Amino acid sequence: MPKIKTRFAPSPTGYLHIGSLRTALFSYLFAKNQKGKFIIRIEDTDRQRFVAGAEEKLIKVLTDLGLSSDEKIIRQSERLKIYQQAAERLIKEKKAYYCFCSQERLEEVRKNQEQNKQVPRYDRHCLNFSDQEIQQRLSAGKKHVIRFKVPDNQIVAISDQVYGKISVKTQDLDDFVIIKSDDFPTYHLANIVDDHETNISHVIRGDEWLPSLPKHILLYQALKYQAPVFAHLPLLLNPDRSKLSKRQGDVAVEDFLAKGYLPEALINYVALLGWNPGTDQEIFTVKDLIKEFSLAKVNKAGAIFDINKLNWFNAEYIRLIVKQKGERYRQLLEQLQRLIPNHASSAEKLLLLFCSRINNLQELIEQSRFLFALPEYKGELLIFKKSDQDKTKLGLNLLLGTLGQIHPDHWQDAKLKLVLENLVAKNKLSAGDVFWPARVALSGLDKSPSPTEIMEFLGKEESLSRVKKALKKFD
Ligand code: GLU
Repeated sequence: MPKIKTRFAPSPTGYLHIGSLRTALFSYLFAKNQKGKFIIRIEDTDRQRFVAGAEEKLIKVLTDLGLSSDEKIIRQSERLKIYQQAAERLIKEKKAYYCFCSQERLEEVRKNQEQNKQVPRYDRHCLNFSDQEIQQRLSAGKKHVIRFKVPDNQIVAISDQVYGKISVKTQDLDDFVIIKSDDFPTYHLANIVDDHETNISHVIRGDEWLPSLPKHILLYQALKYQAPVFAHLPLLLNPDRSKLSKRQGDVAVEDFLAKGYLPEALINYVALLGWNPGTDQEIFTVKDLIKEFSLAKVNKAGAIFDINKLNWFNAEYIRLIVKQKGERYRQLLEQLQRLIPNHASSAEKLLLLFCSRINNLQELIEQSRFLFALPEYKGELLIFKKSDQDKTKLGLNLLLGTLGQIHPDHWQDAKLKLVLENLVAKNKLSAGDVFWPARVALSGLDKSPSPTEIMEFLGKEESLSRVKKALKKFD
């Protein structure tokens, strides 16, 4: 059996889009499922879109998510000679040709074709120059590109693992550029040469490349390379089925990680975008995913990226990690400590207090702010909707008196809860007369962990001081 090898080939043009993560992950899972290799290649031949530092960021994010390359990462900008040689071979074999047309001329041709309701395409003006004419122009340093000569009147038969069989007529294809005027190859040529040279067996990528596939097949044929197997992955969509936003804040994997989303949650969720194991199972370790993954179960329909679902996975993983208290728990704590350097010593208490209420660590930070600085709030918030000011005041005064008598060693959630419950029962008050104002007094909020959990966290002195402050609001 031939060796299985896949690749992820990002262009360093910015951040890692969640859709690209899905492509990388499927390539990785397929390779590992087949006991093959997964490699990363940097496609940096588009100098206009190149962003300095983007490559390092991409590789870091992929590594943080466990998707590292099994071989040295290659960079296309360092391999220009190889593409040039391939192009020259095609020229020699009359499968490609120099084109000296200026942008203005190309523009002209396009306009005319549009006016005549023809499909815009290169008119092969430079196809039949003699060797001498070509040499003259080259020696004069005339700007040029190299175009692939699309064979006439052929049918390109394509077989895609996800989309099935497709056929395209070569009449519908343009003589596309393979080497640009800056001597850099286009994506089309470079990716074929590299996939061939690095023995890629399966190309798994986004379906935005499906329209380019006929060109690629023709290049494989022209270069006499064996084409790999192709699998194009369906688009990611917003929940309203529109194309997934390109706004960085919504789709950049590095931003999700920075917000405190967990690698395991991102991987688990993204794995299910367009693939499912055919069962109801939702929680998968990477090991499970490797075992279960198959291209046959990749869906043709667009997959919906739903942030609420990602939040659900993340919340599940936070709770799982906290419950297991293993190595990942320590790492999560360290991550939280780095996010809250001023309160690092409280990180564990915070995690335990909030883990069942949050979707990610950023939410923990936001939701726990009140513990470190009591927010401003209006006195009327202290009054529960079924209570009144007198009863609220009474409840808070009783609370203050009772809590004052508790020894700091007994200042624990469960014990405090009993104290509050007794207080309610003994004084013929309702829970809303005590628990509600206690919550608001301690947090300044109408939603928070329970008042006794907050008290345990704050300690006796701070808790009493907050209840006193609340009572002052009625003066
Ligand atoms: N550089 C292309 C991209 O970033 C890769 C396409 C491919 O995988 O062939 O989308």
